[in-house]
Amino acid sequence: MSKKITLLGSTGSIGTQSLDVIRAQGYEVYGLSAHSHVEKILQQIEEFHPKYVCMTDPDAAAKLDAALAGRANAPKLLTGPEGLKELAALDGPDVVLNSVVGIAGLGASLCAIESGHDLALANKESLVTGGHLVTQAVEKHGVQLLPVDSEHSAIFQCLQDKESAPSLTKILLTASGGPFFGMTTEQLRGKTRADALKHPNWNMGAKITIDSATLMNKGLELIEAVWLFGLPPEKIQIVVQRQSVVHSAVQFSDNSIIAQLGVPDMRIPIQYALTYPKRVPGVVPELDFTTLKLLTFDVADEETFRCLAACKKAIRKGALGPCAANGANEEAVKLFLEDKIGFLDIGRLVEAVVDSDSFGGDYTLADVYECDRMARAFVRAHL
Ligand code: NDP
Ligand code: MG
Repeated sequence: MSKKITLLGSTGSIGTQSLDVIRAQGYEVYGLSAHSHVEKILQQIEEFHPKYVCMTDPDAAAKLDAALAGRANAPKLLTGPEGLKELAALDGPDVVLNSVVGIAGLGASLCAIESGHDLALANKESLVTGGHLVTQAVEKHGVQLLPVDSEHSAIFQCLQDKESAPSLTKILLTASGGPFFGMTTEQLRGKTRADALKHPNWNMGAKITIDSATLMNKGLELIEAVWLFGLPPEKIQIVVQRQSVVHSAVQFSDNSIIAQLGVPDMRIPIQYALTYPKRVPGVVPELDFTTLKLLTFDVADEETFRCLAACKKAIRKGALGPCAANGANEEAVKLFLEDKIGFLDIGRLVEAVVDSDSFGGDYTLADVYECDRMARAFVRAHL
């Protein structure tokens, strides 16, 4: 059956892989969004003929507007963060896939849900910063929240048996360990942007690639898993699986474990979120067990990779603790990518923000944005 999809963040790593899936399945694109890549979104408009397009960066929006002027069947152009929320809320698609990076995706996630859309969520920062608001809205509006993050998709897939799902006692959240697995703090000190951008198994956007190198990504995913599956953080064990073949596992009350395996290719979880609850043939090759040979499992080193420890602490520090950790990380990663701070400064700054305050109980969306702003300001003041 053909589906209509609105894809937010279509020019990114998840965005372009989502378009591979959409192309292969013959789905229709209702809306697309990007931030700055005008040429790339123009190509996507040519191929997929969306009805709406949003460009969030104002200069890029002006360029796109000029490029679309006079074209027959040009999509309607929306602009800025407000335009992104408008696009997410528009009636028309069967599902909204949010693959924007960072807290910039939160408003659109909420708007999609509040407009009654099922949400396929790659933007983990939506749950990390506003998990309480997102999950409440999902319940209130009776929509599906479909995980796209590979580990969470794996856990979701392992929990499809509705009889055994309530007996879930533990999640085994796998991690690749990133490019610096096994290194000491001393060895990490001189690591550059170029070193950190070389991921062994996955080809991803710059921000999440750095998050994988610091293990912040696993901390964010731990928080994401708490919101998606309702287990406390102590029941979520991080297991380093260097080959990125076991995408995560669940354990039940009888201590039986079920895992999901496959080649490391995001198009499997993306496709499952779009075809759910069905499975259909796709573009990803099968896992070849004759060449696989070895699966290894290790403990994550939280002493060295401080971001992971800081995320765990952030959960204990109150409801907005994860939002503060995320804001600090987004700012620190930006500075690291601009060569303004060193690799170890990222963990130092995230931990310092988490230690700087307690982060309260119930919150509103305005509180989330204020907490994010304060965390970023703290980072800039403590370089
Ligand atoms: P990319 O950086 O590759 O892409 C991000 C997308 O968001 C681009 O389309 C970009 O537009 C757009 N964007 C950037 N800034 C803004 C903004 N301020 N407002 C609105 N849109 C913006 O990221 P990834 O695809 O790697 O990651 C996207 C999300 O998916 C992240 O939350 C990440 O954690 C998650 N994820 C990614 C995985 C991966 O394999 N890449 C795996 C699992 C989860 P433009 O290109 O025009 O700048
Ligand atoms: Mg992941």
